[in-house]
Amino acid sequence: MQTNVTHIAIERAETSKINEVDFDNLAFGSVFTDHMLVGNYRNGAWETPKIVPYQPIVLEPSAKIFHYGQSIFEGMKAYKDKKGQVFLFRPLDNHKRFNISAARMCIPQIPEAHFMDGLTALLRLDHAFIPQKEGSSLYIRPFMFASGKGFHASPADAYKFMVACAPSGAYFSGKVRVLIEEKYSRSANGGVGFAKAGGNYAGQFYPTELAVKKGYNQVIWTDDTHHEFIEEAGAMNIFVRIGDTLVTAPTSDRILDGITRKSILQMAEDLGMPTEVRKISVSEVVKAAQDGSLKEMFGAGTAAVVSPIAGFGHRDRDYDLPELQDPYATRIKKAITDIQYNLADDPYGWRYQVM
Ligand SMILES: *Cc1c(COP(=O)(O)O)cnc(C)c1O
Repeated sequence: MQTNVTHIAIERAETSKINEVDFDNLAFGSVFTDHMLVGNYRNGAWETPKIVPYQPIVLEPSAKIFHYGQSIFEGMKAYKDKKGQVFLFRPLDNHKRFNISAARMCIPQIPEAHFMDGLTALLRLDHAFIPQKEGSSLYIRPFMFASGKGFHASPADAYKFMVACAPSGAYFSGKVRVLIEEKYSRSANGGVGFAKAGGNYAGQFYPTELAVKKGYNQVIWTDDTHHEFIEEAGAMNIFVRIGDTLVTAPTSDRILDGITRKSILQMAEDLGMPTEVRKISVSEVVKAAQDGSLKEMFGAGTAAVVSPIAGFGHRDRDYDLPELQDPYATRIKKAITDIQYNLADDPYGWRYQVM
């Protein structure tokens, strides 16, 4: 079990909202725990974060987050096993990526101790909100943004680091139909696609709405230069199974380095699934769909773990994926969640015990 080194001050909520939470009917990320973590960056340094009651934030109208979008986030989960023990999954990788995103958006680096000790203190305080039901978890949202004021288009001089948490049910969207996007781009060479920067998601909403109007659930992003290679599935990394081989695109400026993606790559070999990390062209996927060698496609990310794709649209044609008996997607999801919920050994050292 991990012990805190940083003293995190706690201001407790006067009353708890725990009795208002319907643990049998949890949506995703819409009710919040009693407390949140807040740290301030001012005068050139981060102050030690504090735990306070979950509440609105007061900001200046000129706060730079509103005008210039200096804003990043992370997505993590806390899992409770049958004995009530609480675990995170590879949280130090989230901290590292948070700082990679921060650097790209000119937001100051958050020390590992502030992130880890603040987060674990918050989880220990609000542990009653962590669902125990299989598939449910506490969704954790660390975020940082420019709170400093001024209309000048330059990096702010003050920032907030915060963590808020939401008990969440199993994220199950059913099988989705996706549209291969050939006009809009999520990211570009030299851009910010590899960062979990707020604006990346705002930019996805409109093309996704257009796809939804055409009857699809989600967009498959392709490279911005020629829309020739598939890169991500909505806000998830993408895997394609051709024959027995699992293929995913290499990370780059344009593709987010997902923790689920890299965990799948590491596990797949042990599950007897050959993998390849290489560019996947749209024409290869279409050809494989036509000749029957395209077996599966799925998105991979913390929220859903894996999100199977039932079929895809490309230009004016639709292609269906086969219904398999024992798909890779199901086996991979089980292998990862068994580690997350402490139902299996963790030979990779990914589980991180909080309490
Ligand atoms: C967060 C995210 C992912 C998945 O990352 P995980 O660490 O697996 O949750 C993939 N693509 C995009 C664009 C993302 O924002």
